[in-house]
Amino acid sequence: MSQTKHNFGAGPCILPPVVLEGSAEAVRELDGSGLSLLEISHRSPAFSAVIFETEKLVRELLQVPDTYSVLFLQGGASMQFAMIPMNFLGSEQTAYYLDGGYFGKKAISEAKVTGQVKVVDKADALIPKEAAYFHITSNNTIEGTQLPVFPVTLAPLVCDMSSDIFSRPVDITQFDLVYAGAQKNMGPAGMTLVIARNSFLDSIRNKVHAILDYRVYREHGSMYNTPPVFAIYAAMLNLRWLKSRGGVKFTQLENRAKAQLLYDEIDRNPLFYGLAKKEERSVMNVTFKMHDAGKEKDFLAFCEQRGIVGIAGYRTVGGFRASLYNALPYESVQALVKGMQDYGNN
Ligand SMILES: *Cc1c(COP(=O)(O)O)cnc(C)c1O
Repeated sequence: MSQTKHNFGAGPCILPPVVLEGSAEAVRELDGSGLSLLEISHRSPAFSAVIFETEKLVRELLQVPDTYSVLFLQGGASMQFAMIPMNFLGSEQTAYYLDGGYFGKKAISEAKVTGQVKVVDKADALIPKEAAYFHITSNNTIEGTQLPVFPVTLAPLVCDMSSDIFSRPVDITQFDLVYAGAQKNMGPAGMTLVIARNSFLDSIRNKVHAILDYRVYREHGSMYNTPPVFAIYAAMLNLRWLKSRGGVKFTQLENRAKAQLLYDEIDRNPLFYGLAKKEERSVMNVTFKMHDAGKEKDFLAFCEQRGIVGIAGYRTVGGFRASLYNALPYESVQALVKGMQDYGNN
């Protein structure tokens, strides 16, 4: 393999070498079939086995009960911003949204296209049980903040977990629907994972086009139309890798250690400061700036020379954002911390 960089990109993000190698191999030829993964029918036994194993791994790693469906869609997390209100927000109802950050705001503006929306600014706000649902974002990828615990509410709870799914154990039974675009912590772009409580799907009353109706995906085992075969295959390899290392419990410990190392340096190093409040700091996306903003470009170039890439902050935030997804090795964080120290001594 020729990956030689420390890739802190926020998404699409770093994937383990074994996943890249396995995906490349399957593109050449899938398991001795004489065909490329890109050429096989999604109805073939070979691909049925892939989608079956991927679902099984999702269920195993997140302990998803049988009362939930695991669905593979396209359109990214952004399509979920539209599909959720289209399916679940009735004309007489109100949907509640937590205003957590950039992506939460996008979800809110899409919901307003469908119906009535109320925005709350605290995860523990009181949500009436008649609410269509309460939508939250578990990890704010751009701001670098994360919910340490999830709200308890009588309304159905819907969560955008795009940037921290599979990074820590979660109790799926707290949620009625969880979704995640794959390209943050699950695989390459092109696939969106949806985990939904069956009774919540059964409650859909809105009339929705088949391609946007969750129940159609459930009925057809995510094969109402051609699924994103390559993205699902690569995600399967990634979930195999995650399982082989001890699953979400192990990865949470490792992710915490990576985040701790970097936050400690940010707090210690007089050149830098963190952007998120300490109690809201994300384990996945670490946002920080330099006190002397004029040096930030130079620091980026300094890092680039050391093979440290993907740390520029989001365009509206500036500064830096280091994303520490599952596949980012601890050694890469050590390299960044060393860079921060050496830059100061220069
Ligand atoms: C990246 C991201 C999105 C948008 O994902 P797409 O798959 O590009 O639509 C939505 N929500 C969160 C939390 C994200 O990190």
